[in-house]
Amino acid sequence: MSDFMGKIQMQNAVAELDGDEMTRVLWAVIKEKLLEPFVELKTEYFDLGLKKRDDTEDRVTYEAADAIKRLKVGVKCATITSNAARMEEYGLKRLTPSPNGIIRAELDGTVFRKPVLVPNIRPTVSCWKKPLVLGRHAYGDVYKNCEIRTGGPGKAELVFTGADGKEIRKTIADMRGPGVLQGIHNLDASIESFARACFLYGLSENLDVWFATKDTISKTYDGRFKEIFQDVFDREYKDAFTKAGRSYFYTLIDDAVARVMKSEGGILWACKNYDGDVMSDMVASASGSLAMMTSVLVSPDGCFEYEAAHGTVQRHYYKYRNGEKTSTNPVALIFAWTGALAKRAELDGTPDLAHFSACLEKAVLSLIAEGVMTGDLARLADPPAAEVLDSWAFIERIAEKTGELLAG
Ligand code: NAP
Ligand code: MG
Repeated sequence: MSDFMGKIQMQNAVAELDGDEMTRVLWAVIKEKLLEPFVELKTEYFDLGLKKRDDTEDRVTYEAADAIKRLKVGVKCATITSNAARMEEYGLKRLTPSPNGIIRAELDGTVFRKPVLVPNIRPTVSCWKKPLVLGRHAYGDVYKNCEIRTGGPGKAELVFTGADGKEIRKTIADMRGPGVLQGIHNLDASIESFARACFLYGLSENLDVWFATKDTISKTYDGRFKEIFQDVFDREYKDAFTKAGRSYFYTLIDDAVARVMKSEGGILWACKNYDGDVMSDMVASASGSLAMMTSVLVSPDGCFEYEAAHGTVQRHYYKYRNGEKTSTNPVALIFAWTGALAKRAELDGTPDLAHFSACLEKAVLSLIAEGVMTGDLARLADPPAAEVLDSWAFIERIAEKTGELLAG
């Protein structure tokens, strides 16, 4: 960008977490073409590529999580969660746990997923006019369960032994024959952090907050979730919501599902862990494309980690390795960077950086609206795409447009 005067300076760094496969390839291109020409990038770099995580026995992942806590802002590329096939492919020493799981636990965070909307890609659910943001509780329930498969008949009991030695004991069932049992739990403190993260995010994005459980059936367990959300709202957020003209709405989970399908969006839907797991895939695919879904992990003490919701796009990576220029969509990865840089700008009070981030987003959105896009979107576009580009050509066009917007 020869006509561009001086690079934008950053006051503080963001934690940069590199990843795997196709997203790692695009990560480097995005930095080289869309960020470094305009911004004097300040990052603390962590290589979360699978091999590096294996070599360091995940130390690099914990170090990255610490950096996010210290710097308050992180941006993460997609990473492989290892399994037997990956162990062989990468010659791993062991099965490494999911890095996202490690970081979520370290930050005690809630994940919010928000689609990037463009006018020529219509959501499958035609009434969704505004983004539907999904907030998923990331602790406990069935994800930290304890299970038993029994060999024969017997009595199943639920026992709690208090730290004071007092015992609570209840019969679950007198089981007439063999079967299965499951124990799950959650903590008031975690539910409270989840509620706070949702109300904070709702306020910061100017959204109504919806929350739903099955408290008619699970009167004590789900009932506690309902109670805590209402308490936190009444005590800490009611006035702010009234002032912002926003509301908090509680209903049953089945009613929420039915209502969401008829809503126009523009809400934050707070979900328990399992509901969030299931519903986020539905919301993502019904919003258009997985490649247009962004994700941010918010901790109760105000740390933010931005990423794309999709994985490492393995199938495209194998084609790329065979010399093909794939048409992999870089939008969610770019929006992870703009999200992180905009948050950095907000925390540091640096309007130039905020302006850059807004221009880059605008460049992406206006190109797609003009019909310039990658293959995955071209399959959904109405009116049809004017130009279908590979990732490199698409990023080149975004760079040109960003330069124009910044100069103009
Ligand atoms: P994926 O990377 O999400 O991709 C699944 C399919 O969705 C792709 O094959 C592609 O469909 C489409 N797609 C996703 N992102 C796209 C993009 N940016 N542009 C165009 N199309 C896109 O899931 P995966 O390939 O099943 O998983 C690969 C690896 O990602 C796994 O090892 C998994 O552990 C990891 N993963 C990581 C994260 C994370 O770090 N947050 C999340 C999920 C999965 P077509 O092939 O039909 O074009
Ligand atoms: Mg899932």
